[in-house]
Amino acid sequence: MILPREARLLPSQVKELEEIAAEYGCRITPIEGSTRTIYAISGDEGDEDFITRLEGLDFVERVDRIQVPYKLMHRKSDLAHHEVTLGGVVLNHGFHVIAGHCTIDPKNPQFYLETAHAVKEAGAIGLRGGVWKPRTSPNAYQGDDAALKILIQAKEETGLPISTEVMEERQIPIVVDAGVDVIQVGARNALNYGLLKALGRATAGTGIIVLLKRGMHMGPIDEFLSAAEYIVAHGNPNIVLCPRGTKPEVDGYRNAPDECITPLIKGRSWAPVLVDPSHSVGKATYVPFAAMAAVAYGADGLNVETHVCGSKGIGDDPKQAITPAVLAQIIRDGKELHARMKGYTLPLQSA
Ligand code: PEP
Ligand code: MN
Repeated sequence: MILPREARLLPSQVKELEEIAAEYGCRITPIEGSTRTIYAISGDEGDEDFITRLEGLDFVERVDRIQVPYKLMHRKSDLAHHEVTLGGVVLNHGFHVIAGHCTIDPKNPQFYLETAHAVKEAGAIGLRGGVWKPRTSPNAYQGDDAALKILIQAKEETGLPISTEVMEERQIPIVVDAGVDVIQVGARNALNYGLLKALGRATAGTGIIVLLKRGMHMGPIDEFLSAAEYIVAHGNPNIVLCPRGTKPEVDGYRNAPDECITPLIKGRSWAPVLVDPSHSVGKATYVPFAAMAAVAYGADGLNVETHVCGSKGIGDDPKQAITPAVLAQIIRDGKELHARMKGYTLPLQSA
């Protein structure tokens, strides 16, 4: 990656970089961080002459070459100083929670609006709500564009930033134009590189966060970080990583809880981690335990399914949504435990 001397380069300087990069079969992508814009090199940056030429430019401070598949997500990247903010809150300072329905029921908008006010009251800083849903069965409810209006209404009424999942490229401009603040990539699309690239491009420079769930079927941590790298390398450094349990499941839970990977992620990357305890255990009664374990393992916060009346909800809500009262307790205790965990040092990886 190329670090400029000033906060950002002039168009003529970018053009010069692009021309040099093209000679070596590489491309340059500007990535707007919160303190300065850096310029990622995509392609093989192994040629010493190439690097020497870049370093010789008077507007270049230095060229960093990190020899891992996730150069930008790496904790030694210049982006390590980048702050991912949601509604003015820096996500890896303190303990923060996004909460709301698994699925917004377009036939019962009042439930969603009630939940939205209740999770705000409980202390959540963001509101989740599924508009389009990845369902195991094609016969199950698949979502409805109409639910997006309810999500927007909830944002207007509460002032909370909103989060929803996209599953197809056609949905990206719809949510960007609607003012969605966090775009979720679900576990089933976690390695859909075409979608990740399209998201990176469409959200570059917008301030929109992409919340990337961990894939369903356990892969190495580096696979997770490399998936996030696709989004950053295409222009958007506002990434949140979201472990949510993997297959095969622990008998009795929906998945194998994986909140214990947070120290491994943080050893390698700077990105904030919000754990999803809901899909991990899949049952409301177990969610508080998974949530507190996630905090103990160093998560920056949670993404948790919450419903004022889960039994009348749709999607996952009847099974795994907690009540706003339980959410309030988790947020209160989570903040306290999070502060106490500062007394323990996470090991950093040298790679
Ligand atoms: C969800 O958040 O409701 C969801 C479908 O999540 P996941 O992709 O983790 O299953
Ligand atoms: Mn769900």
